[in-house]
Formats: sequence, structure tokens, C-alpha cells
Amino acid sequence: MSEFILQLDLYRILIMMKQGAIEHFMWEAIYEGRKALPECLPNPPVGCVLVEDDNIIARGYTNKPGQHHAEAMALSQLKHQELTNVIAFVTLEPCSFYGRTPSCAKALVKRGIKEVYVGIIDPHPKNNGAGIMLLRKAGIQVYVGILSEIIQQDLKPYLVFEY
Ligand SMILES: [Zn+2]
Repeated sequence: MSEFILQLDLYRILIMMKQGAIEHFMWEAIYEGRKALPECLPNPPVGCVLVEDDNIIARGYTNKPGQHHAEAMALSQLKHQELTNVIAFVTLEPCSFYGRTPSCAKALVKRGIKEVYVGIIDPHPKNNGAGIMLLRKAGIQVYVGILSEIIQQDLKPYLVFEY
């Protein structure tokens, strides 16, 4: 019996550790995003970190319009690397459409990323869940809503809700 309880406790500690690690990496993505202002405007100041074996291997944030989005900036640092064991943490849903720059959701798929943790859904009428769907259709595990209240505060003034 006591052994069973011990196992349950260990299991709970493991879950808590995983949860803590997920929030830790999302915080790192939030800090990246805060570096984007004001150069990124009118695009939202998104942040991204790429993680492999619990280590951050690349970082990115929204560059000037027409230049890298957060995900593209991070991916560009790993040009010749296999990414099938890499997890992306992004504060905002990756873009699904080709705007001034290519779609970040497609870029993540193309590079073979394993999992994506997303802070909040992008309310932009051209995205709004389409980026998540694109990732999931490609077989990528996507988790949405990590530290969403904090990210909402950071990004809300810069998000596009309608045309
Ligand atoms: Zn993008």
C-alpha cells in the first residue's frame, strides 16, 4: 500500500516537473517576444524558443515587417539540423497564411518539428485556428493555452481581430 502511494506521489511529482518545464520554456518565449517591440509593428511581438532534450537550442521574435517572424528566426539558426526531436514554444498561434513572409506553421511542418506548445490562438481572421489545424493535420502534437493570461496581456494591443 505505502509503495503504491509512493508511486502515485512520484507520478504526481513527474507531472508537476513536466508542467513546470513547459511553463519555464513558455516564459522564455515570452521574454523573446518582449524584445520585438517596437521594430515588429504593426505585427504582434511574438516570441519562440526551440527545445531539444530540455535545452533551448534556438530563440526568435518578430522582426521588422517583411522579415522573419519569431518561428522563422528561430528555425533559421538551425539550418542543417534534424528537428524531429525538437519542441517549439510559441506565444501566438503560428501563422497559416502567406502574408509578407511565408507561413510559419508550414515552416514548422516542413522542418519536422515534433510538438508545438502555443500560448494563445491568433484571432486574425486569416488565422484563428487554421495554423493549429495545419500543424495537427501534419501529425504534430499541439498544446494550446500555456500561460495564456500573461501572453494575452502582452499581445492583445497588437492583435488583429477583424479587417
Ligand atoms: Zn508567422
